Amino acid sequence: MGYRFDKKGFLLIPDPRERRLEKQAKDANKPKCLVVNIVYCPNGHSVMDDYVNFNSFSGIKLKIHRPNGEQGVMVLSPIFGDKSVVFIGTKPKEGEKLEVFCPHCEQKIPILQPCENCDGGEIRVLSLDENFDITNGIAFCDLVGCPSAFILHSGELIEQAYLEGLE
Ligand SMILES: [Zn+2]
Ligand SMILES: [Zn+2]
Repeated sequence: MGYRFDKKGFLLIPDPRERRLEKQAKDANKPKCLVVNIVYCPNGHSVMDDYVNFNSFSGIKLKIHRPNGEQGVMVLSPIFGDKSVVFIGTKPKEGEKLEVFCPHCEQKIPILQPCENCDGGEIRVLSLDENFDITNGIAFCDLVGCPSAFILHSGELIEQAYLEGLE
């Protein structure tokens, strides 16, 4: 395949923005994982719990510390895009930033990046693989009431951040 030039002699290269659109279209055709079956803390503990379930799917149970020092439990819906969350033992207010821990080993849940959809929240990540892998995980914002408080695929976020860095 030779180089292609336009009438003025400029070399024609594929527009990277076009490639991105093509990729998005391709991704849309891929079957999506809609519910998380199991996610792990950095020490390989499953944080799934049946105590609270969402449409009969086990919730993602995490320990939380509020800015006022109160501690409790937060159970996130395992369904992608579902904003349902249940708080047990404490009732955080809208806009509070939470510290988030594994309920089994108290390991802090790692921060991937600052949240772009709220003021002060950070995106936390849990791994879909027992050997902790932030590129194959789920991510959620730790600020109560943030529009990104639901879970999403961490790999897509990382890819998005990478692409935005290129622009
Ligand atoms: Zn743990
Ligand atoms: Zn946020």
